[in-house]
Amino acid sequence: MPRKLIVSDSAGVCFGVEKAVTTAEEVLNENQNKNVKSFGPLIHNPQVVDILQKKGLSVVDKVKKNEKGTIIIRAHGIPNYQEKDLQDSEISIIDMTCPIVKKLQFAVKYLSDNEYFVIIVGNEKHPEVIGARSYAKKERVLVVNDKNGLDIKVIPGQKIGIVAQTTIQKNLFWDVVDMFKEEQEYTIKAIDTLCDDINNKQIESKEIAKDVDIMFVIGGKNSSNTKEIADICRKVNKNTYQIETFKEIKELGMDLEDKVVGITAGASTPPWLIKQTIDGVLHHG
Ligand code: SF4
Repeated sequence: MPRKLIVSDSAGVCFGVEKAVTTAEEVLNENQNKNVKSFGPLIHNPQVVDILQKKGLSVVDKVKKNEKGTIIIRAHGIPNYQEKDLQDSEISIIDMTCPIVKKLQFAVKYLSDNEYFVIIVGNEKHPEVIGARSYAKKERVLVVNDKNGLDIKVIPGQKIGIVAQTTIQKNLFWDVVDMFKEEQEYTIKAIDTLCDDINNKQIESKEIAKDVDIMFVIGGKNSSNTKEIADICRKVNKNTYQIETFKEIKELGMDLEDKVVGITAGASTPPWLIKQTIDGVLHHG
């Protein structure tokens, strides 16, 4: 048994994910045996998506014009051209895009409409960024992971708008903003689109990771905010493991006896998965 277990207060589902999942459950209960779909995985947690699929939710990435039934737009949002396809079809739409992701989409649109060249700091392959990017004029947007991925000389024009994928580390966004501020010739408009819930999770998880022998970060392997938290923890504690379920801890064959163990979780990890892991760790040899 571990000597001590420290569980992060901020671990687990954020309001955006909670709202998306509870709404999907309600819609599935009301529409039993009817056609209910989600556009892309509703959230990035395979265990939760699996349960919803068993209750009848199917995951799709396009719809036909005469498609019937109900479609739920995932928490990460979708590109505006795909939203238009949904509106043009016969399907009824339930939009579960998180309000903070909506703020990012609106910010990109506002900047682009006002002739700013838009820089999104984040992962260009992430669905949230693909969706947000669609709100800018085609040739007037660039996605960079961090300031190292940015060559300022290739940016056309002097009006620069900067936003961030909601779940990245704060400093990655502000480093890019500062890089432009150092150059005199730019007019910069930086809009902070970061998610506070994720920021709290990152800060708290790092503090816990510093003080423990082993750190577990629970969340989907496809969850970018969970990966980000695990990366932050790994920087201060190399014994950091990103896991989806307690089973993986067993498979790692770790000796937790007399160790100080830390547990945190990403924004799409449900409370029952966290509890299962805590129970497993406490009764692990
Ligand atoms: S992590 Fe933040 S931005 Fe993402 S769904 Fe949750 S509340 Fe919204």
